[in-house]
Amino acid sequence: MTGNISNSSYPQIDEAELDGARVLVRADLNVPLAGGKVSDATRIERFLPTLKRLANGGAKVIILSHLGRPKGKKNPEFTLRPVADKLGELMPERPVRFVEDCIGDEVKQAVSAMQAGDVVLLENLRFYEGEESNDPEFVAALAGLGDIFVNDAFSVSHRAHASVYGLARALPSYAGPQMMDELNAFGVVLELPRRPVAAVVGGAKVSTKIPVLTNLVGKVDILIIGGGMANTFLHARGQEVGKSLCEPDFASTVGEIMSRAVETGCRIVLQTDAVVATAFEPNAPNSVYNVTNITADGMILDIGPKSIEDIAERLKGARTLLWNGPVGAFETPPFGEGTFALAKLAAELTKKGELVSVAGGGDTVAALNMAGVTDDFTYVSTAGGAFLELLEGRELPGVAVLARAR
Ligand code: AMP
Repeated sequence: MTGNISNSSYPQIDEAELDGARVLVRADLNVPLAGGKVSDATRIERFLPTLKRLANGGAKVIILSHLGRPKGKKNPEFTLRPVADKLGELMPERPVRFVEDCIGDEVKQAVSAMQAGDVVLLENLRFYEGEESNDPEFVAALAGLGDIFVNDAFSVSHRAHASVYGLARALPSYAGPQMMDELNAFGVVLELPRRPVAAVVGGAKVSTKIPVLTNLVGKVDILIIGGGMANTFLHARGQEVGKSLCEPDFASTVGEIMSRAVETGCRIVLQTDAVVATAFEPNAPNSVYNVTNITADGMILDIGPKSIEDIAERLKGARTLLWNGPVGAFETPPFGEGTFALAKLAAELTKKGELVSVAGGGDTVAALNMAGVTDDFTYVSTAGGAFLELLEGRELPGVAVLARAR
């Protein structure tokens, strides 16, 4: 699909007859909990505009979501009840009824009692194995509850699950507003970007991002590789990386990515200096070394000041930025400085209208939040797996099933 997010169009909810309709809406309300309460409501807040649009349009809104990984069994640890409480707090004008199951008689009764504009949140879909296996009976049980289906959960759309894929085939289906925002943002940067396009790919390991790197070298003009995975690139170039995180078994894969980059004319950028410590702990004594001088007991934990400057120059020359993965161990101070400096620069360039910046993935969002620049990027997606699969150039089943050919 990377090839064609923007060659497809998606039925949207303003085309649907909402008034009085039973609308099954798939949301991603998989939020962190602490002590039985929602500890970070970002995903709920992002879903609120969709929920309000549906309810204000007179729909009987039946919200579907998963939470955590209960592995097909009912487990109170993963109940969505705290999410219902939080929704009630954030939307006091409209009560949210929580139903302790997602299929079955109790649910049917609750749905048949709904009036236009009512909101019901059903219990965790993953309490049933049929959710992840897209079991036809489970799909039918869900589909029987609604007249139409709205998928507003881009972040789970790389999964052909019952509530993502099965329902879209069973009912008239629409892409929700939040889903449309993500598709528009990704469509622009992946398919019709302003060039030059730079990508920053960081994070811990090369092994988890080989398909991303392989796809991106064919798409972007500059690929900046940082974080632990850059060490494997340095190692493959024959350089000492000491005790740094490194995957020597992937040296040949790195070689293949480098040769492919030569073929496609993609410039791969690695750091030239590094912040090096001998222990991986907060405030560990550290110094800046040229990457050609790393000693056997050294551990590369961040990019150095020369590299920040060099990458900054490249970002200033770019018109589009795709970012996944931190360029250092940003959670452990002071090894977040490189990531934060690049994040602030990208935000500044975006504010000036010089750069379209799209970032995604859990750690990346956490790093941008720490740098205080999330709102200044063009688009920041909390979708980790789905964003990576897009970067890999793969078709997302939950999106493809909604698309209608133009
Ligand atoms: P990923 O989930 O692959 O995006 O990896 C994110 C993790 O990579 C974060 O927890 C970072 O702390 C870690 N990371 C980034 N750079 C380094 C590094 N140089 N050494 C060790 N861990 C790193």
